[in-house]
Parts: sequence; structure tokens; C-alpha cells
Amino acid sequence: MRKVVAGNWKMHHGPRAAADFLARFRPETDPESVRLIFFVAGLSLQAVKANARVPVGLGVQNIHWEPSGALTGEISAEMAAEAGASYALVGHSERRHVFGETDAEVGRKVGAAVRAGLVPVVCVGEQLEERRAGRLDAVLRRQVSAFIPGLRGCGEFMVAYEPVWAIGTGETATPQDASEAHGILREALGELGRAPILYGGSVQPGNAAALMSVPGVDGVLVGGASLDPEVFARIAAAGRSPG
Ligand code: PEP
Repeated sequence: MRKVVAGNWKMHHGPRAAADFLARFRPETDPESVRLIFFVAGLSLQAVKANARVPVGLGVQNIHWEPSGALTGEISAEMAAEAGASYALVGHSERRHVFGETDAEVGRKVGAAVRAGLVPVVCVGEQLEERRAGRLDAVLRRQVSAFIPGLRGCGEFMVAYEPVWAIGTGETATPQDASEAHGILREALGELGRAPILYGGSVQPGNAAALMSVPGVDGVLVGGASLDPEVFARIAAAGRSPG
């Protein structure tokens, strides 16, 4: 399976900066060996599409579960698809822990992505206190069981294991931590456990290859290090299949 290398630009790179990024993004890899996806602000989708020189998947970072309505400031999955997105991040740790998104809301958003024909990339992960209290397994299983019903009718989906304590902190899970968590997730997903599971949390050019060589780690979701085209190109190269 080709490794997935996905960037989450968060609230960075408006249309002008996005176009500039793409003009400078020249990964030494081809689409046969790595699958690149950018999760960008909805306002920058067109700029990425128009300026990409290599095939890239386009995604949004959040959607609402309703297709339309009196929900000021929200964007529906249908709107994201119409604007050019093929993927949607759902349940990112910043959505869960900064904006208070619940497991039930994550499940509804997954359902909305599926109905709109977007590939949901569902983020899960434990907080430091939960890990310290030995609750890794219980937290991941709870998060998975909340979104499985939303996958009904789904053609394709991915999961991103992103330990909250590793996001934007410079702390990275060890390959063993990632292997353990990915194993729990595959088991919790049951017959859906063949979906790609990505690792996210302070991925850098220096640790990307080691993380992607862990059996069961199908790629990476990269925040801060995806903002610089040269740095992100080095991470993409780390995902290249041998040979
Ligand atoms: C993320 O935002 O999904 C993420 C993993 O961020 P960072 O790589 O900066 O830790």
C-alpha cells in the first residue's frame, strides 16, 4: 500500500500563501510511491488545486453534519465537495479539545462526510492524563465505537492516531507507542480494520521514515512541519516505497 503523507495546515496559508507554497513544493517522489493530501482552509482549496504541480488530494479540516441551515460560520460536507475537496478531517484534537467537539458529534460528521462523497479521515488519540492512567485502550475503543455507525455506506475512510500530548509539542510517540495504538485501533475497527491508519504528532523529516516503517503505520498526518514546502517535501520523500 502506498504511504499516505498528509499535511494539516490548520489556520495558516490563505489563498496567496497556498499558491506560493505550491509553487515551491517539489517533492522528490511520484504519485505511484506516495499519496499526498493537503487539509487546508476552505478558502484556499481553489488556490491549491490551481497551483499544484504534482497530483495532490484536497481536504478540509472540519465540516458540519447538516447539509445546510441557519448555522452561521459553518461549512457543510456538500459545500466542501462542491468547492473541490475529496477528503475531510473529522475529530481533530483541536476540534475536540479547543472547540469541545464530542464523540457523538464526530460520529455525525463522519456520516455527513460519507453522504457527501468525501473520504473521512477520523482523528483519535488520548490525552496525557489518560495515557498515564492506563486508559489508552479504553479511550481509543470509545472513540472508534462512536464513529463506526457514521461509516455506513462508506467507500473509503482513514483513521489518524494522534496522541494529544504529541500534537504541536515536539514530543513524538515512539515507534513502539505507535505500534501499540495502531494495533488497538485495528482490533477496535474489526472488519473495517484494513483501512489506512496514519500517525500524527510532531512528525518531522528526522522521524518520519522511522515512524512510517512501523508495521501498521500507513502514513503520517503532519501539522507544523507541513507549512514549509521544503520540509514537507522531505517528509513526503520519507514515505516513498523502496525500489
Ligand atoms: C496535527 O495538527 O494534526 C499535528 C499532528 O500537528 P503537529 O505535526 O504540529 O504535531
